[in-house]
Amino acid sequence: MRQLIAGNWKMNGLTVECAALAGALRDQAAGLACDLLVCPSFLQIAMVTDILGDTKVAIGGQDCAAEPCGAHTGDVAAEMLADAGCTAVILGHSERRHTRGETSMQVRAKVRAAMRAGLSPIVCVGETEAERDAGREQEVVSRQLAESLPDGFAGVLAYEPVWAIGTGRLPALEEVATVHNHIRASLRARLGVAGLGLRILYGGSVKADNAAAFLAVPEVGGALIGGASLQAESFLAIARQAVETL
Ligand code: PEP
Repeated sequence: MRQLIAGNWKMNGLTVECAALAGALRDQAAGLACDLLVCPSFLQIAMVTDILGDTKVAIGGQDCAAEPCGAHTGDVAAEMLADAGCTAVILGHSERRHTRGETSMQVRAKVRAAMRAGLSPIVCVGETEAERDAGREQEVVSRQLAESLPDGFAGVLAYEPVWAIGTGRLPALEEVATVHNHIRASLRARLGVAGLGLRILYGGSVKADNAAAFLAVPEVGGALIGGASLQAESFLAIARQAVETL
């Protein structure tokens, strides 16, 4: 299976910066041995689609509403993302769970919406530092998976320890392996053989100089990248270290 290297641009970049970043990816992303995805802000999606639309770089949203349309001021429907050229959407990112109070039940409704619209949902799970210190990471991740994934889930998982996001702090590779194995077992139990084919990304302070180690961990199907996805050079340097897995 090809690994997926996904860039979450978060709320970064005005038009000129995002156009330059997309343009650099357009020029340099050919021939990679992995799948590449970038997730700009809602406002930049159309422009980035214009720049990358005829390349193999896929485009995704960072969130979507559960409803397909209607009186939901400020929200963006999954159908609108698909209409704008997206093929994926990040859901349940810790910055939404923890700073916007998003619950796993809400995430599940959004995952259903993404699947309804033909998007690949990238569902984020991960424990806080306090939960990790209490040795509760597997319990927390199990609960998030059970509550966030609808029956028949088809998409991508991202394991992102909250304390590793944007901090430069890294979990040990063995810890990543343990949680990824746990997620795989949960997916298998929940979805049967279909759960064996889903990619499980690692996310949290992945940079060009540590990516190879994370991408070599069994059951790591790619990486979700925040800060290092904002420069084409570092994002592509990570992507070049992807490996094909069985
Ligand atoms: C993220 O926000 O999903 C993320 C992994 O960020 P960073 O790479 O900056 O830690």
